[in-house]
Amino acid sequence: MATDYLAHYSEEVRAKVTALHQQGLLPQFLLKRHPEVHQIRSDRALYDFTVALKNSYLKKSAPLAKVCFDDKITLSHQALGLHTYAARRQGNKVKTKNEIRISSRLKRAPEAFLRMLVVHELAHLKEKDHNKSFYQLCCHMEPEYHQLEFELRVYLMLADEGIDPYQGELSS
Ligand SMILES: [Zn+2]
Repeated sequence: MATDYLAHYSEEVRAKVTALHQQGLLPQFLLKRHPEVHQIRSDRALYDFTVALKNSYLKKSAPLAKVCFDDKITLSHQALGLHTYAARRQGNKVKTKNEIRISSRLKRAPEAFLRMLVVHELAHLKEKDHNKSFYQLCCHMEPEYHQLEFELRVYLMLADEGIDPYQGELSS
């Protein structure tokens, strides 16, 4: 069964998306909002991108041992969908290692989508749960957090159907 990326949105929102989808307008909707894909393709580039965000907003939180793309992360978790690639604490020692893994599906996506995911994982350095202060922190780092999450879910939904609005772009 296909992943329902929009399961947690209102009937109204879901109906709107379905209508746009039936008219084939979702790729345009995404392209208009985000015309380009980012160029952050390597783990090194992703690390730099993540640390720059961390230094801007969470300088005092625990350091990051590793940041990488991971092609084993499916993003298909139903509940909140996007926390299967949460920052992982390795081992059970006092000195834990914080790692952030981002699905390789975000390698060729708009930068805003990547930023939204990185912000989500960075927020987990301070808040383990998806509670109110967690989302407040996400919105502090990225004011459009909720809108971007919605658009990312639309993007993933299309991708699962083999539709990529950014297909034609060269990676240069
Ligand atoms: Zn999460």
